[in-house]
Amino acid sequence: MTARILDGKEYASEIRLQVTRDVAWFTTHHGPIKLCAVLVGSDAAGRLYAESQRKLCVKTGVKYELVELPEDAAQDAVLATLDRLNADPEVTGIIVQLPLPAHLDAALVQWRIDPYKDVEGVNPANIGLVFYNEPILAPCTALAVTELIRRSGVELRGADAVVVGQSRIVGKPVTMFLLHNEATVTGCHIATRDLAHHTRQADVLVVAVGKPRLIAADLIKPGAVVIDVGINRVREPDENGKLVRRTVGDVDFAGAVEVAGAITPVPGGVGPMTVAMLLRNTVEATRKQLGRR
Ligand code: NAP
Repeated sequence: MTARILDGKEYASEIRLQVTRDVAWFTTHHGPIKLCAVLVGSDAAGRLYAESQRKLCVKTGVKYELVELPEDAAQDAVLATLDRLNADPEVTGIIVQLPLPAHLDAALVQWRIDPYKDVEGVNPANIGLVFYNEPILAPCTALAVTELIRRSGVELRGADAVVVGQSRIVGKPVTMFLLHNEATVTGCHIATRDLAHHTRQADVLVVAVGKPRLIAADLIKPGAVVIDVGINRVREPDENGKLVRRTVGDVDFAGAVEVAGAITPVPGGVGPMTVAMLLRNTVEATRKQLGRR
């Protein structure tokens, strides 16, 4: 069997198109949608990420502003910046770039983002509301996973689902989503005694761990839907024996594609869908703020 590829890039470009239309509609009828990203310090990865956010926003018609604070900014100064952005009616979405410098408490900072402007869905209030199936804005990667599962067409009611990895912004919210859809869910983690025993039962298998190729083909039930969240940079020999850098997932794609019924590639699966969900949340945030007025 060769699995159907759940092409995150293709789905993401469809979603971007819809978002572009929605942004145009909101801009005409209610005024611009504006995303503000807060960057503390001069972390190169954070700056790069901000640049790609800016490009994406320009493409979809969203206004974008990068608010930069110095590396040694005090916690109170960061919180005061968030208070200002929360209170500004022109700002409809807020992102805080991670990692923050070590002297700042990331959880406290995330708590301060208005849950209605929290487009990444990282405020603990939003993560907690996932439990009630009523988040104002849900975490983007968890949304990406759920959208990919939906597009696989699998019937979740009564299905056996296994989520490997139980982080707060990916594994746990995905586990809750599957439960809300009446799957029978097993949450695997570092202390799971026999991982293979669980994964082999899974009609739907979600892996969000951060360990290259943790899940080999023989751990997958034939015909399963496999969603690979992992992004791992590895150095390994190419076909000529030369060491090259590659990005691989938590699933051994080459083997798994012969066993699974549907599978996400890495790269090109959950990654682009996460970005698409950030854009969708940016529109959703505006819609919810208008609904609240
Ligand atoms: P995380 O916060 O490090 O969580 C990893 C989880 O996996 C933890 O629950 C950990 O348990 C568990 N774990 C570790 N080793 C395990 C093992 N051998 N068997 C079973 N469970 C194990 O990571 P995350 O933020 O969820 O991210 C996971 C992966 O997804 C990373 O590769 C990350 O880069 C990637 N990611 C991708 C996207 C995207 O857009 N595609 C977005 C976010 C994350 P303990 O905490 O108990 O050790």
